[in-house]
Amino acid sequence: MTTVVFVAGVGRSGSTLLESILGSLPRWIGVGETMHLPERGLRENQRCGCGESFFDCAFWSQVGTHAFGGWDRVDVDDWLGLAGRVDRNRNLPLLLRPNLSRDFAADHARLVERLGSLMLAAASVGDAEVVVESSKHPSYGLLLAADPRLDVRFVHVVRDSRGVAYSWTKKVPRPEIADRVEFMPTYPPAQIALRWLAWNGALSLVGARRALPSLRVRYEDFVTDPTRVVQQVASFAGTAADDATVDDILERGAADGQHSVAGNPMRFGTGPIRLRRDEQWRSELRPRDRALVTGVTAPMLCRYGYRLRPSKESV
Ligand SMILES: [Zn+2]
Repeated sequence: MTTVVFVAGVGRSGSTLLESILGSLPRWIGVGETMHLPERGLRENQRCGCGESFFDCAFWSQVGTHAFGGWDRVDVDDWLGLAGRVDRNRNLPLLLRPNLSRDFAADHARLVERLGSLMLAAASVGDAEVVVESSKHPSYGLLLAADPRLDVRFVHVVRDSRGVAYSWTKKVPRPEIADRVEFMPTYPPAQIALRWLAWNGALSLVGARRALPSLRVRYEDFVTDPTRVVQQVASFAGTAADDATVDDILERGAADGQHSVAGNPMRFGTGPIRLRRDEQWRSELRPRDRALVTGVTAPMLCRYGYRLRPSKESV
């Protein structure tokens, strides 16, 4: 059985950095956000984390052959259609019990099979025991977890909602688009607050099911003591990472040959991994937005150990 560590949580919570460190551990491989593979890889041939375009990347080309007999045998429209019908966070009740609807169950079974084959092929081509997948959407994690060939473990990354909301107001360029300048989307704080609440609520629900192993990791703890958090995740996935191995990855940067297929632009970074607690929101998030995000997310903020009235300085 192949272990898949599924990194879940609202984007801009440090998940890309966590994935690149985990993916550099011996016999681990990071594949990025494969939920975007049909659109950004197969359809648009965007750049892989290794720098090559998707179809020029040797890793993904072998994965396609291994999983499906070649990417040319995969019907992209069919894949996108299936994902559109099944892979929705609003389908959460059905994703937990697909047999409630016969039509849904048929689509669900086909998509689960396809994604499972993709993970198995990535493990095999990458000669890895553990695949790190960071699509983050709760629904996608449940699809992976439905494949009996995979041992899926959720790593639920949480970050202070005010930090997440502020981060989504900033303009960040997307380097995987080679022929033009394009930016990551931005969202208003109110929208991010609602998403933060819904997704973290869903992931806490998933974490409460004993059948789905789940580990919660706080962004603030990860950037403060990455070695300890990486070791926690490694042991949660049934492996081990000693201090020297993790420190070496932090010092030298992520291993070459990372093939994350989509995700935060940070995945293109090379060299030492500099983790710093990004606390800009404490001074930069407008008071009105801060009050709104705090109000919407208050119960879960408390539950995760955040202060409702944080100071301007980092604590
Ligand atoms: Zn690649």
